[in-house]
Amino acid sequence: MARADQRRIEKDLNVLATFNSTPGQGLTRLSYTKEYRDAQAYLRTEMEKLGMSVRLDAIGNLIGRLAAGFPEEGQPGCEKNLNEQKEKPQETSMQPALAVGSHLDSVRGGGIFDGNMGIVCGLEVARMLQENNVRLRHPFEVIAIVEEEGNTFGSGIMGGKAIAGTLDESLLDALTDERGHTVRQVMQDFELNPASIVTVKRSSGNLAAFIEPHIEQGPVLESENLSVGVVDTIVGIRTREIEIVGRPDHGGTTPMHLRKDAVTAMTEVICRPRQTVEGLDDGTVLTCGSIRVEPGTVNVVPGKAVFSVECRSRNQESLNLVFEQVGIVLDKLREQGFVVLEKPLMELAPTHLSDRVTAALRRGLSTCGFTEKVLPSGAGHDSMCIAGITDVGMVFVASRDGRSHCPEEYSDPKDIADACNVVFEALMELDQIFN
Ligand SMILES: [Zn+2]
Repeated sequence: MARADQRRIEKDLNVLATFNSTPGQGLTRLSYTKEYRDAQAYLRTEMEKLGMSVRLDAIGNLIGRLAAGFPEEGQPGCEKNLNEQKEKPQETSMQPALAVGSHLDSVRGGGIFDGNMGIVCGLEVARMLQENNVRLRHPFEVIAIVEEEGNTFGSGIMGGKAIAGTLDESLLDALTDERGHTVRQVMQDFELNPASIVTVKRSSGNLAAFIEPHIEQGPVLESENLSVGVVDTIVGIRTREIEIVGRPDHGGTTPMHLRKDAVTAMTEVICRPRQTVEGLDDGTVLTCGSIRVEPGTVNVVPGKAVFSVECRSRNQESLNLVFEQVGIVLDKLREQGFVVLEKPLMELAPTHLSDRVTAALRRGLSTCGFTEKVLPSGAGHDSMCIAGITDVGMVFVASRDGRSHCPEEYSDPKDIADACNVVFEALMELDQIFN
């Protein structure tokens, strides 16, 4: 049985960690920067060592590709021939590839595993193919996706959206970085050609399946003592900003029954849907993370409360149910004379990942002797968009203390090796079932 090598995984992650603009203060590798270019250069070298042909698409996704039937004894890329490699394997047509990857950019002051881990998994799987002399019927790609976190221009998942063909091209001129440079300018400075961004789009005709290994960024796997789990759904998100206007009055002289207290009204809006969520058993979560109160003085009845209500769920029905309850409370408050405004901040339907890929990954778990853990992703990923054009699956690796987007972010390289083994087994199956 093919086995991932934990030391190679550690080495890749440690080298990638050096391409960082804030050493000592977490990893900061924003897209289209010098550090980003250096990280791409490292990956390119590693891909080429494996006999992959490497290209950078028009938005800056780096794609390494092993031709189908690779590596064959006597062909470039085969271990025996690596040193005397002269020409790349020839492809007769653009066959649909099986791909593994994730994003190469980071948040500011983040950890070294988020994103990087999925690319390193892809590289390790390519090495496993090579050293076990496995010949896939499909080409195999490792994809390092650009600009997922959105920390440069304030809009994320740009590389993933370009692959899916859903990137709004007007953003290239509308969004700017902190220096005031547009996405288009920044891309041009990175020697890319934003005018041909449409060429980035893939389809199931040239991308048969995409697997994204990612750190869990939550505490579930660790709490169950598991190294790896399979993601079947990326949750839907509905976020509203709600403004309740009552009346500011003297906090000493106004009797309780004559008050129009916006904060008391707000707590009803928060508590009733919370009861609904607690009655669901599908992992739905509710967060009221932002609250602003006016006038915000200890001795004045609060006249205005502006707050967020965010619900995430794998089930659209649960999202609807929770916001139905919110609506009931808001209607009641209107009847009581409060002025209530609702502003939608985000509306994202749940993404159900490919049954075929998820099933193959689950079988990968059991083949490797692991518990068949299936969980939803509570965070958004490139996979969410790519699932619109082809079969997509995700694998999560346990995160220590559930931490991410901070220097404390950590996943055990042994657990990452487990994920590589699971992905490798799934790949063997997908290679057979896909045309
Ligand atoms: Zn990520």
